[in-house]
Amino acid sequence: MKPNSLAARDIASVLHPQTNLKKHMDVGPNIITGADGIHIFDDSGNRFLDSGAGLWCTALGYNSERIAKVAYDAMKELGYYQIFRHASHAPAIELSEKLLEISPVPMSKVMLQCSGSEANDTAVKVVWYYWHGKGQPERRKIISRMGSYHGSTCVAVSLTGNPKYHSSFGLPFDGFLKVSRPNFYRDAEQGETEDAFSQRLAGELEELILSEGPETVAAFWADPIQGNAGALPPPAGYFEKIQKVLNKYGILFVADEVICGFGRTGNLWGTQTYDLKPDIITCAKGLSAAMQPISAVLLNDMIFDVMVSESDRIGAFVHGYTYAGHPVASSVALEVLKIYEEMDIVGHVRSLETRFLGILDELSRHPIAASPGGAGLLGGFEIVADKEARTSFPADVDIAGRLDEAAQAEGLILRIASDRVAFSPPLIISEPELDEMAEKTYAAMDTVHRSL
Ligand code: PLP
Repeated sequence: MKPNSLAARDIASVLHPQTNLKKHMDVGPNIITGADGIHIFDDSGNRFLDSGAGLWCTALGYNSERIAKVAYDAMKELGYYQIFRHASHAPAIELSEKLLEISPVPMSKVMLQCSGSEANDTAVKVVWYYWHGKGQPERRKIISRMGSYHGSTCVAVSLTGNPKYHSSFGLPFDGFLKVSRPNFYRDAEQGETEDAFSQRLAGELEELILSEGPETVAAFWADPIQGNAGALPPPAGYFEKIQKVLNKYGILFVADEVICGFGRTGNLWGTQTYDLKPDIITCAKGLSAAMQPISAVLLNDMIFDVMVSESDRIGAFVHGYTYAGHPVASSVALEVLKIYEEMDIVGHVRSLETRFLGILDELSRHPIAASPGGAGLLGGFEIVADKEARTSFPADVDIAGRLDEAAQAEGLILRIASDRVAFSPPLIISEPELDEMAEKTYAAMDTVHRSL
């Protein structure tokens, strides 16, 4: 590595998230220099098809003259103003109006934030504020699912159901409870139907609520397709049965639409794909097609009405971020939503869904793959050592690392999460590009299979 190269300067200056810091000092960064549509380029001249849309977010690819112009104009007009203490501006108002207009269930208000983690963090505070306002402050516990990822702030990561995100941080906080992941392939009992499996998980949720005391449980958190569990779609009947339990005990339902929102599952919202009735929705990523850091919390009348009286009782709703409702980010998000409408993003995703799901089926015939599933342009399959026994590879095989390396050699960025290959290509992907993604994935799996 040359002493003054970008790579050397990276090692000397940048602390990378989700990275083995020691290994990074040895291997250095992969420096991305540019992009074209759904492909990215690195400084060694490699070109990669990005099957994960960055971090599930670059719905419109990586470059846009049109969106750049909107950001430029917004910065010239009003590059910043806050929305604290009755201040407001047109971009925040218009984006909030638009989100209420397209919300999958009737919602009352929108809280603009800056990231998915912030949206979930804020939503937890809203839930607690609501129960305080209702005169039930003891309702504090939040239930989420193993396998889920809801963000990296202390509270959002406490919602997250994956111990590796908690190690060495002394997290999760108390009162963040977990139920099983809804992975039928891995966790169903012998002879159990999908419906019976879903019923068992709903029963587990009810038992947990009863053992904790329903009067102490505030909310249940779920993403419609579980992203971090490997783009895992719910088993048949799952959300219907879960929602029945929540309704029985008056527990709020928060749908984390950070990945699923804005066309990803073949409807504008995952909430529509799985017939959810959330009280609160969090969204981010596709909201701005990742061109600006922005997220939102949508909440219903029932919650807002209580927040109004509680804020009046104590003097204010004392919560807020400097960049909440940022005019540049809001303007960009508004333009992105306009683009989605113009290109009929839902229609486009639906037109590709059959091919996408077909590809998952074809890939899962490979000897190290099984159990394909997804919706829209979000889905994946299990990586298995033995299809019959449904076993995973031992940790020391590092199957994820091997697949990642083999995919990059094919010119493909592949996401492997929770023993699954998870696809969420940019929504602008074309059918030939989907086929290219499939061919490269198959080739990478073959390379790894041969090396085992
Ligand atoms: N929720 C889900 C379902 C996510 O997948 C993510 C990030 O991947 C988040 C929340 C956190 O979003 P952010 O990284 O913008 O904080």
